[in-house]
Amino acid sequence: MDMTACNVCGKIFGASSGSVCPSCRKLLNIVYDKARAYLRDHPKERVNAVDLAERIGEDERLVEILMLEGRFENRGEDAEESDDDKKRKQLLQDLQKNLASMPQKQHETGTYGSDRHGARREK
Ligand SMILES: [Zn+2]
Repeated sequence: MDMTACNVCGKIFGASSGSVCPSCRKLLNIVYDKARAYLRDHPKERVNAVDLAERIGEDERLVEILMLEGRFENRGEDAEESDDDKKRKQLLQDLQKNLASMPQKQHETGTYGSDRHGARREK
């Protein structure tokens, strides 16, 4: 097994879980949750590691490591997304689709649309 020094506390550990030892990883996850919640509440705010650490009351070193690991990139768009986020996004998409299709339906008087549908159905 590869051994490496933990990025946070400097302890030597088996490098199966990246560059942070398991106990610091737990800590990082807590910091990550806090930071993510903060970023979600302040989506327009551009903060660096030091600012963010200060706002959430955590060690800036931990926030820095999370940033280096790219944990805050693509936020809200990837696998980190919670079910609630997905549902909300889905609802929003449906709403936008409805809004987009509504005026079109009013303009389409049926000739084009129904002809195309009819031809396809007969095949
Ligand atoms: Zn550590």
